[in-house]
Amino acid sequence: MPYRRQWRAQCWSHYAGTSWLCLAGGREMIRSDFHVHTVFSDGRNTISDVLRLAAQRNIGTLAITDHFDPRDWRPAIASISELALLRHFQEIREESTRQKIDVLCGLETTPDSDGRLTFSTLVRQASLPIITSCHYIPDAPAAIPGEYFNDHYWKTCKEFMLQMALGEGDILGHCEDYLPIEPLIEGMGTTYEIRRRICAEIVDRYFDRPYVEKLADNLLSSGKCCELHSATRTPREWVVRLLAQRGVPFTPGSDAHGEALVGNTGWAYEIAERTGAHLISGRKELYERR
Ligand SMILES: [Zn+2]
Ligand SMILES: [Zn+2]
Repeated sequence: MPYRRQWRAQCWSHYAGTSWLCLAGGREMIRSDFHVHTVFSDGRNTISDVLRLAAQRNIGTLAITDHFDPRDWRPAIASISELALLRHFQEIREESTRQKIDVLCGLETTPDSDGRLTFSTLVRQASLPIITSCHYIPDAPAAIPGEYFNDHYWKTCKEFMLQMALGEGDILGHCEDYLPIEPLIEGMGTTYEIRRRICAEIVDRYFDRPYVEKLADNLLSSGKCCELHSATRTPREWVVRLLAQRGVPFTPGSDAHGEALVGNTGWAYEIAERTGAHLISGRKELYERR
């Protein structure tokens, strides 16, 4: 069921627990969340927790998309085998039947420098959606810790982002935040908030209009969706507007790792309403884009 519209007086609340989004004129729809992690990768919730929370929050379509990347820089992620992933999907399906909730078995990964997925056809076919995100730059240029505005590093990052937009997978994940700044961080690291500010400055400085136009070209060419990343409220509104005007479809994603954010995709629906962006409604529409 793509959209279930009802008339209700109650407006959507920013807080988890209320899932109804009040649109102009009182028309409302059920929210989806295409990007959630569990303890299988680096999330804090079990599959059972995530499904229970999604049900409580009336999430229409939920996708569990744990990290799966044999080349990830984090050993705990890189060591997850294909067999373990397929068993994880089986657990999701069993829990989905138990709790009577429709759940998609997806994953989040970083492709190779040409935008190609780095795992078997079997895993590709078993996974929907496949989110491709830039958790690191394959063959990244040398970076100097503390030097956040390294022109060559960010030029390479943009080239990689464009390859990802053109490449395999269903969704381009968090394309304007959670950028690969780790090699640039000096000393003991930074707080989550400071990293968001650093990413925002990098995006404002380097991710300019000609780049975004090219991103639109590549997404349209591959047929991939762009994620509206609610955890960081990115991409920037003018970027969403430009991509939407060019006809790029979007998916809402909370990128929840803990309890609070599961199903927290309200921002994606708000910005889609403001910009005229088309949000993918559910399993069928996503599958048909493959
Ligand atoms: Zn990610
Ligand atoms: Zn994620």
